[in-house]
Amino acid sequence: MREVILLKYGELILKGLNRPQFEHKLLKSIKGALRGCGQFSVTQAQSTVYVEPQDADASIDAALKRLQKVLGIVSLVRACVVEKEMAAIEEAVVPYLRDNIEQAKTFKVNAKRADKRFPLSSPEIARRVADKVGDAFPDLEADMRTPELLITVEVRDTDAYIHANSLPGAGGMPAGSCGRAAVLISGGIDSPVATYMMARRGMSVCAVHFASPPYTSPRAKAKVLDLLKIVSAYGGPIACFVVPFTALQEQIRAHCREEFFTILLRRFMMKAASRIAAAQDCAALITGESIGQVASQTIEAITCTEAASSLPILRPLIGMNKEEIVQIARRIDTYETSILPYEDCCTVFTPRHPRTKPRLWDVEQEEAKFDFAPLLDAAVEAAEKIVVCPE
Ligand code: ATP
Ligand code: MG
Repeated sequence: MREVILLKYGELILKGLNRPQFEHKLLKSIKGALRGCGQFSVTQAQSTVYVEPQDADASIDAALKRLQKVLGIVSLVRACVVEKEMAAIEEAVVPYLRDNIEQAKTFKVNAKRADKRFPLSSPEIARRVADKVGDAFPDLEADMRTPELLITVEVRDTDAYIHANSLPGAGGMPAGSCGRAAVLISGGIDSPVATYMMARRGMSVCAVHFASPPYTSPRAKAKVLDLLKIVSAYGGPIACFVVPFTALQEQIRAHCREEFFTILLRRFMMKAASRIAAAQDCAALITGESIGQVASQTIEAITCTEAASSLPILRPLIGMNKEEIVQIARRIDTYETSILPYEDCCTVFTPRHPRTKPRLWDVEQEEAKFDFAPLLDAAVEAAEKIVVCPE
């Protein structure tokens, strides 16, 4: 029996977009996601991608798990491939779906006939298959509205396909179909979610992380890389630049007023990240900021931070509250890693009473008290590049 995975990407997504480019990016992500799962052929026709094992090592289960995270796919399902003959379809349906049928109390059969030369109409195919299933399982009830098991028969160009309920795909846009941005990633809950959200809109991302050893530990850095690994399962490998910020933070502490420490640090983060991002062909920065969440995220503080960036800053979480962000973090599997208790450079030298409504003019005056430019150059120069790949 031949088995394939059918991936649907839906027509709606394609509106107004360059379709061949979209499909090219999608196929590239699919092939990337299948790396290490064995040999598969990947072909595409009529808004469906067919993924078929080519050798005994190719595991459909492993492939399904990976493909569920590929952006741009609306739904996916494993299906058996049969000849385009009604007798072959009727013969295959019960043996192929026996496990699914035994677990269900109600069912419905849906038939789709893309090949209009097939002698039976869709309702006729559905009825014949439903009779076959009903005969084999007399206790199974038909339910046309909310069946537990939806058996689908698709008669397509070269073959017919039989499958049970589809799984939801990751949705969104294919990785890399909507430009490139650099995310400022901390080890917290928010920035990994922000990364995922922009990747889901089709942005390819690289990452910038600021570390202040020995105030921040190697474990804190490892945690950030672990988080990026989880997120890379959606959008593909992520290059992370780890920027040493200790010297700069120490000079902020030595020369500037305590209430400005955080806002100054954040401005230097934007300056350094803008430079790394531009060198990486990124058109924007991404942060996990959400309005009002902490002192450095009041609109006044955000305005002062923003002024230091030479690129637009995308803040996908800006209007969300913590519970909403946590919900997404749980869904994408970053939450458990994010809550591990490691320090961030933002929590080094934290002021007791940070300015919650800083004015740009005051902040710039504070920043002018010392020549930070050489330290900033040195930090960017010393950035360590680590490429993180999905598991
Ligand atoms: P998160 O949960 O993402 O850490 P947060 O609520 O702790 O966010 P802040 O610490 O104020 O908020 O950070 C706001 C944003 O600044 C983060 O979402 C992230 O984009 C960026 N950021 C914070 N710390 C770092 C860091 N060490 N390196 C790079 N970016 C950082
Ligand atoms: Mg943080």
